Amino acid sequence: MDFPAPKPHLEQYSTPPNVAVRMLNLAHGDIEGRVVFDLGCGTGILSVGAGLLGARLVVGVDVDVETLRVARANLKFSEGVFGNLPVHFVNADVSQLYFRADTVVMNPPFGMRKRGADRVFLEAALRGAGVVWTLLGAESDPFVDRLATEKGFAWERVMDFVFSLRKTMYFHKRERRSVRVSLYRLIRFHP
Ligand code: SAH
Repeated sequence: MDFPAPKPHLEQYSTPPNVAVRMLNLAHGDIEGRVVFDLGCGTGILSVGAGLLGARLVVGVDVDVETLRVARANLKFSEGVFGNLPVHFVNADVSQLYFRADTVVMNPPFGMRKRGADRVFLEAALRGAGVVWTLLGAESDPFVDRLATEKGFAWERVMDFVFSLRKTMYFHKRERRSVRVSLYRLIRFHP
């Protein structure tokens, strides 16, 4: 189930399933047997996917309680098919979040509506995890490089995607819009 009433200020867009599958497959080695956090988990597609790929524990975090209700319903649906998964959803603002995880997987806001929204997420991820897989708007290389260097991470841009987003919010003028997105992997120099 998708966002029932997506909130523009929270940039609520779900990861297209084909992109989620590709991303999680690439990240598989950093997910299996690991503690994984999904920051800005939305409806939980990445959290549930990471659970299915054998994560030891997955914690999906979102500031919006309504979206967490959908995430829990989606989890329940998958558990009905695949059996219990070690996935939990927590209500928190990532800017206030302190945690320890092996890996973060995330598709956060890109800062299209609120400048710097992506920075808050990447900073939180780099605070808490040894490895970070994140989607970000295209041309984020300089931003990723600056933050990674500051926090002691190496990084690579693993893949570029084009999202075809449906008209889901009142200010969208066209039925569909393409958004260029890149997948990054960051890894801490001294774990
Ligand atoms: N990761 C999901 C959803 C992406 S949309 C997916 O892949 O489908 C971005 C999500 O970030 C939304 O669910 C929004 O509610 C959440 N979000 C925005 N700002 C936040 C913040 N400060 N703290 C936690 N979650 C936030």
